[in-house]
Amino acid sequence: MKILIIEDEKKIASFIKRGLTEENHMASVANRGDEGLQMAAENNYDLVILDLMLPGMDGISVCRELRKNNFQKPILMLTAKDRVEDKVKGLDSGADDYLTKPFAFEELLARIRALSRKNMNSEGSVLKAGELEMDLLSHKARFFGKELELTTKEFALLEYLMRNAGKVVTRTMISENVWDINFDTDTNVIDVFINHLRKKIDPENPLRIIKTVRGKGYVLENGR
Ligand code: CA
Repeated sequence: MKILIIEDEKKIASFIKRGLTEENHMASVANRGDEGLQMAAENNYDLVILDLMLPGMDGISVCRELRKNNFQKPILMLTAKDRVEDKVKGLDSGADDYLTKPFAFEELLARIRALSRKNMNSEGSVLKAGELEMDLLSHKARFFGKELELTTKEFALLEYLMRNAGKVVTRTMISENVWDINFDTDTNVIDVFINHLRKKIDPENPLRIIKTVRGKGYVLENGR
């Protein structure tokens, strides 16, 4: 998952980021409320971890703005406060869950899992494009019903292509959304990954499902 951490305490932010990265999530940090709001508007995050007391804009306002801007993914509020009225305020502003500092990292992970399950159940956990099928809950991908053996990165790459099936995605879009970084334009990392993926999906006919659009990027056939 692609997760945004909006937290001004640098130690806590880097502790969460490190832990999430170890769990194969992609985590970005914003140290100010207004900065976090802007990052959320420009990227497709699957979940936001939001501190309550923030410079720039407080957590409650950030949460309200996110919901006003139609951000529908889970928001987990983080705070040192443990007062009932703060929890109520947080949830009323559009947060899905609440975690009081200090917390054990395991608990944060459990909350994230629960929130993403809830979110997937509401938006459907299965992606389909032609004969490709991907179950985001069980982390399985199939082609003509046959299970594909994908690495974590290959799975993330295929998920991104499937979410954008039928549309051209550029290498920049892929590097930003799947790797969360911008590769130098002359590296061929993405092409290598795409080729691995092609061979795993359809070794007989690797160029059929993921097509190269010369000078632009790639498009996954949506089978329609
Ligand atoms: Ca804070």
